[in-house]
Amino acid sequence: MTAEIISGKELAQELRENMKHEAKALNQAGVSPHLTVILVGNNPASRSYVSGKQKASKEIGIESEVIELPETVSEDALLDQIVKLNTNQRVHGILVQLPLPDHIDEQKVIEAIDPAKDVDGFHPISIGKMMIGEDTFLPCTPYGIVTMLKSKQIPIAGQHVVVIGRSNIVGKPVGQLLLNEHATVTYCHSKTKNLKDITKQADILIVAVGREHFINGDYIKQGAAVIDVGVNRTAAGKLTGDVDFDSAKEIASYITPVPGGVGPMTITMLLQNTIQAAKESIKQ
Ligand code: NAP
Repeated sequence: MTAEIISGKELAQELRENMKHEAKALNQAGVSPHLTVILVGNNPASRSYVSGKQKASKEIGIESEVIELPETVSEDALLDQIVKLNTNQRVHGILVQLPLPDHIDEQKVIEAIDPAKDVDGFHPISIGKMMIGEDTFLPCTPYGIVTMLKSKQIPIAGQHVVVIGRSNIVGKPVGQLLLNEHATVTYCHSKTKNLKDITKQADILIVAVGREHFINGDYIKQGAAVIDVGVNRTAAGKLTGDVDFDSAKEIASYITPVPGGVGPMTITMLLQNTIQAAKESIKQ
């Protein structure tokens, strides 16, 4: 039996259609949802991510502005810019595209953003609230993954979730969100021993390592759901995931492709968070 594909592209499209109505209703209530993205330097990948976010925002009726700062910008100047955006009532969401140049302390920058505008969900207040299960902006990639699992009614409560990767933006928060949904969660990382013994126990396997085809069908339990977060470029320049799709799909019951899987969902959840921030601004 071949696995059913969870198309992030299709689900993202459906969700974005709904968001168009939400954005329109906000506009009618006199609020134009607005996302400001700060882009520092000239990293081509960052530039392409930012233009993707801007295009997607516009398509659903979110105003989007990009502030471009030179690679040499000082940390203080960047922090000043954030303070201005924090107090600008027209701005509902602030996103600083990472990574930042080495002379800037990324954590300091993340912590400068007003948590009420933290649509990336990386501020320690957002993360702390997520940990204790309070309403907050959820980090976009983990939020997208949980949304994908739920869209297929894949059981989560009581299931064994194995997450490979423990970054602050993907691995740790996705495990936490699924723990909040009553899964039993195991984290694996570069020091984990007997990785295959662990992954073979997973009902849901989430792979966020950043290595081309790191996981193949041999690592997967029959009937598991496999979420491939990785984005890698092959030697031929093709986009590929952390999972060897062809061998994995013969064992798994559900699988996400790369491209067209987690990636489009990440941007979609950013849009969702921005709409949420605009709604909250009315309540204040
Ligand atoms: P990261 O910060 O580099 O983290 C990679 C994780 O993989 C680390 O926790 C590392 O363990 C673990 N790892 C490395 N080698 C391993 C091994 N041999 N066995 C087990 N674990 C190992 O990466 P990230 O930011 O989480 O991103 C992961 C991937 O997802 C990347 O390809 C990235 O491009 C992609 N990504 C995609 C999206 C999307 O929207 N589609 C969003 C974000 C990221 P240690 O902690 O021990 O070093």
